[in-house]
Amino acid sequence: MDIFFLGTGAGMPAKLRNVTSIALKLLEERGAVWLFDAGEATQHQILHTTIKPRRIEKIFITHLHGDHIYGLPGLLASRSFQGGESEVTVYGPKGIKEFLQVSLSISQTYLKYPLKIIEIEEGLVFEDEQFSVEVRLLDHGIPSFGYRIAEKDRPGTLLVDKLIAAGVRPGPVFKKIKNGEAVTLEDGRVLNAGEFVGPPQKGRVVTILGDTRYCENAILLAKEADLLIHEATFSKGEEKLAFDYFHSTTYQAAEVAKQAGCKQLCLTHISSRYDKAAWLKLVVEAREIFSNTEIAEDFKEITIPYK
Ligand SMILES: [Zn+2]
Ligand SMILES: [Zn+2]
Repeated sequence: MDIFFLGTGAGMPAKLRNVTSIALKLLEERGAVWLFDAGEATQHQILHTTIKPRRIEKIFITHLHGDHIYGLPGLLASRSFQGGESEVTVYGPKGIKEFLQVSLSISQTYLKYPLKIIEIEEGLVFEDEQFSVEVRLLDHGIPSFGYRIAEKDRPGTLLVDKLIAAGVRPGPVFKKIKNGEAVTLEDGRVLNAGEFVGPPQKGRVVTILGDTRYCENAILLAKEADLLIHEATFSKGEEKLAFDYFHSTTYQAAEVAKQAGCKQLCLTHISSRYDKAAWLKLVVEAREIFSNTEIAEDFKEITIPYK
């Protein structure tokens, strides 16, 4: 489970930061990549990485501002030429369906794979045996959503050595123990599954927010997340500006991480008014409130380890 930043700038592409797109690499978990937003030239950014477009299984759009969606039709079209045959599901606010249908039909783009488009509302938008994805509305002038991606807990590993020491041979008994069943052996001994299985592995949580002002729903989505990715379009002291443009400052992003009890915070959606020298300053000021803070850069990767 790794986060890979494809674009980390606000509003317009800049030389050092392309517009927003974030990949959640779930290669070990499900052989798939999930994308969050696809600003213009997201597919160009992907060319510089090891990400295979055919691996993209789901694309979650936070909101319909151009810097978050202009790259989507092109990316979907190219995926057809890059061996993509498996279904892609796009999740996004109301309007995403029309945007894609119009873009693809007017340009006479025919995809060689099934495309599913789901217009989301608050609540659970996806769940399977591995992951759940919950969304809530943020505060950004137009509907902007935040996503909480939660991995399900995984059962503990079988303590093979301990079973063998207890005189059990690999086979059906192992399987029953792994399934959590108590087993009565031929000699009458009863083995309790709990004693032969390690502790369950806690699932990891990543929260990826769309553009937003400081708001309560951001804190709820980020509750005890292993990693929170929060926009920080402005530096501290620019709260008035941030409020007027429906964005957040570094301080406000850090405050959300602190209130939510997150493990780690990564700032993104950085305005081009801040040059490279200023980026460090942005991190340092966020760390005054939340110490485990990093700042995103295009092509930066963050691995989310097990707890
Ligand atoms: Zn934006
Ligand atoms: Zn926006």
